[in-house]
Amino acid sequence: MEQVVKKQQQFFNSGKTLEISFRKQQLQKLKDILKEHEDEIYESLNEDFRKPPFESHATELFVLYQEIDHLLANIDRWAKTKKVKSSFINFPSKSYIKPQPYGIVLVIAPWNYPVQLALNPVLGAIAAGNTVILKPSENAPHTSRLLAELINSNFDPGFFRAVEGDAETTQSLLSEPLDYIFFTGSTHVGKIIMKSAADQLTPLTLELGGKSPAIVDRSADLPLAAKRIAWGKFINAGQTCVSPDYVYVHTSKHTELCRLIQKEIRSFYGDDPSQSDDFARIINDKHFDRLANLITPEKVFHGGNTDPDTRYIEPTIMTEISWDDPVMQEEIFGPILPILPFDDLGEIISTLQNKSKPLALYLFSTNNKNQKKVIRNLQFGGGCINDTVAHLGNTELPFGGIGNSGFGLYHGKTSFDTFTHPKSIMKKSNWLDIPMRYPPYKEKLKWLKKLTKFL
Ligand code: NAD
Repeated sequence: MEQVVKKQQQFFNSGKTLEISFRKQQLQKLKDILKEHEDEIYESLNEDFRKPPFESHATELFVLYQEIDHLLANIDRWAKTKKVKSSFINFPSKSYIKPQPYGIVLVIAPWNYPVQLALNPVLGAIAAGNTVILKPSENAPHTSRLLAELINSNFDPGFFRAVEGDAETTQSLLSEPLDYIFFTGSTHVGKIIMKSAADQLTPLTLELGGKSPAIVDRSADLPLAAKRIAWGKFINAGQTCVSPDYVYVHTSKHTELCRLIQKEIRSFYGDDPSQSDDFARIINDKHFDRLANLITPEKVFHGGNTDPDTRYIEPTIMTEISWDDPVMQEEIFGPILPILPFDDLGEIISTLQNKSKPLALYLFSTNNKNQKKVIRNLQFGGGCINDTVAHLGNTELPFGGIGNSGFGLYHGKTSFDTFTHPKSIMKKSNWLDIPMRYPPYKEKLKWLKKLTKFL
């Protein structure tokens, strides 16, 4: 690890990444490599958790292509030195802000979108002029291996290097001098990463998880809400950090919504989703066992079947659920959807105000007053009105959590900003040097007070 970091330090110090043309070349090169190896990428995702190629393209590669194009189109403008007003007390002078890269960035990735969540932060780090070490997730081993091969055989290791491994590998990387850490993963490991970063005062972003609610009020377009909730919940077999973890629906619509979501599950995946090519599997036995234990058979409204051999968990709806149930104690991160009734929106707002701040929140409502009330009074990373997950498809929207769901932002301009230090410079002229600030002060305090009155 020492050698990996040393090489990157030398490369960064060479000043190569300060050239915008170099950054653009590397982004384009990464896009070309991904395009050239699309089929192998689908294959490795399929081997890791039977991810359907459509979902691999839509939620991994397409997102990266879109981000690369957005960065390439804007990087010149964002990387420009910006002049700002000069202050009177510094007269005569000029002031400007120079966007500068931090240096060596370590990106630590999760397994659930193992290509997109590994490379999306990398794009921002490259655009901003950093060198990058990527640690893909060991829990998606085929994809981790492929990413490492593609990166390490195409890029100068001083500039961009993938290091495969588990927690121990990450820890040894963290003990090296790094300039920025970008972590995506669980809240539990996020705390460990932050402690390590504190040792060397390394700045960091934590993209974490949590229980993201969907709220469906009385005014919602129910069939459309059901379809969009089912899509956001069961895509990637529910292993999505922003998937709706559970649903709160107005009591008067509870049964109808449950039936409509059940209907959508059948129309998406047929009567037996285990036979569908469009439904992914759970990543490993540990997560399979965890999820299987969250299913309480007497509370299953739909689904509930599991198969440990193929790590299959049927899209499942659970009802008669309260906050005391096991399924409400932690982020579900799988295809199990508890649907809870509510009578009064105000009460739900109070309940959620007392829970951890989630990464996402979704409101299904055609009532403007309710839309404003929910958006204004609840804290969460980001979300949608009348949809789920889709806010991630807009590069103009910053993405990140709040509270237990993390801190820091990325996507589009915020990716560039996250990996950039805005260096502030004041350039003073030499033709005038007002003596006021220099000791001995004698009567100067009186004059200072008079003068500052007018500033
Ligand atoms: P995880 O926290 O178990 O692992 C993430 C990364 O940390 C992996 O690369 C792993 O090797 C490394 N790691 C694990 N233990 C470590 C330790 N003790 N020291 C150092 N490194 C360690 O997360 P996961 O299971 O891969 O992902 C699932 C979690 O990630 C869920 O909570 C989900 O909500 C969250 N998530 C968040 C986002 C987001 O954008 N906010 C995106 C995807 C997933």
